[in-house]
Amino acid sequence: MTTQQPVLNEHHKQEFPPMHTAEHILNGTMVKMFGCQRAVGAHVERTKSKLDYDFPRALTPQEIAQVEARVNAVIAADLPVTCTYATQAEVASRFDLGRLPEGATQAVRIVSVGDYDHCLCAGTHVEHTAQIGHFRISSTRYAAGRLRIVFRLDR
Ligand SMILES: [Zn+2]
Repeated sequence: MTTQQPVLNEHHKQEFPPMHTAEHILNGTMVKMFGCQRAVGAHVERTKSKLDYDFPRALTPQEIAQVEARVNAVIAADLPVTCTYATQAEVASRFDLGRLPEGATQAVRIVSVGDYDHCLCAGTHVEHTAQIGHFRISSTRYAAGRLRIVFRLDR
């Protein structure tokens, strides 16, 4: 692995870095708490974002509160968000390369939120997690194996 920046696929989505970084932390939290996969669908916008998970049931109010608390603890810990670069072959055992976009470059970028979460991403992130603000789940919905979590960031 190297910290030299190779050429990556262009990232077309214009993202709001605090929201998008919160998306990473929520994904990492869901994987750790429930052993599920990272979100299978995402609508990340400036004021409100929605992530959809393959999930067997609805979350209880207690679980929703726990997810919020864990995400906010990561934000409050003010972890650095850092990037390292590698090739697809080097990271094949650590990450699901099936999630990369069609025609992805051999060079990939690993985005790390401290030691809490690592994923392959070409998006735009905050530099440290305290820049995200306060994370709040405004609603959840469950239907037919899909759990949707809607969240907002409060300053
Ligand atoms: Zn990202």
